[in-house]
Order: sequence, then C-alpha cells, then structure tokens
Amino acid sequence: MSPALKKCAYHVPDMTYMAVRPSNGMTWPRVLRMQLKHEPEVVILGNIPDRETAEIAIEAANRQQLILSGSRADSASLAVTQLLRLSGNPLDLAASLRLVCTQRLAPRLCPDCREAYPVEAGLQNRLAKCSAWTGLSYDTAATTGAGSH
Ligand SMILES: [Zn+2]
Repeated sequence: MSPALKKCAYHVPDMTYMAVRPSNGMTWPRVLRMQLKHEPEVVILGNIPDRETAEIAIEAANRQQLILSGSRADSASLAVTQLLRLSGNPLDLAASLRLVCTQRLAPRLCPDCREAYPVEAGLQNRLAKCSAWTGLSYDTAATTGAGSH
C-alpha cells in the first residue's frame, strides 16, 4: 500500500508514505504519479483536490489499480458530484468508480459524568443490551488525546 497524505495521523507498518507538500513541488498529481510508478497493490490518497489528480486516479483505476481516496464531501452522493465536476470524462469515472461510502463522527459523552437515560420498556427491548446515556459534556480524550473536559 502506498498512501499519499498531507498529514499522517497514524503510521502503519509496511506502508510507504509519501507526503504531499506543494511548496516543495510535491503536488498531489506528482506524488500520485510517483506512487503509481512503483505499482503498489493499493494507492491511498488523502484527497483528490484537482482535475489533474482526478484524471490520473481515474486512468489508473481503469487499468485495474485499486485507488482509495478520502473526500471532504458531506455525503456519498456529493462525493460523486465532486468527482464528476473534477473528472474530464464522466464515462471514465463511471467505469472506474466501484464504491462510495460515508461516515459521520459522533461525539462521545464524558464517561465520568454521563448519566443513565431512562428508556421506555418497548424501546429498551429493541435496544437489546444497549444502554442510553445523557450528559452535558463530551469526551475530548477520545479525539484529542487530552484529558476529559
Ligand atoms: Zn465529565
């Protein structure tokens, strides 16, 4: 695997990271081309920010290269719209795109001061063994590494 990222949050063993730094000439298209020369099994892009990067990624995907990319779109359908806007040829995009999925990050309640939330019996049966909680503060440690609120 060969990830290209602006910032690397986690280092995974056996991956060759390439940093995108436009100030040093390491633009997204250049880094992607450099990655593809090594014919990695999987290329991971932090983002597809421009038409040139999109065209290179789509062309590689149409040669059976697996390209995974993040997107800052608000939904899966908007991610497709964004790629359509960037790509020069919608037919090439359609031929190369296999999956678009989305995730939302939800804040976690502070585990120290959350309180059990009473749930009516019918809903509790549907929740099975899950618990409902309420609270006023969120667990910042989960996302920042810092202590709770
Ligand atoms: Zn707390």
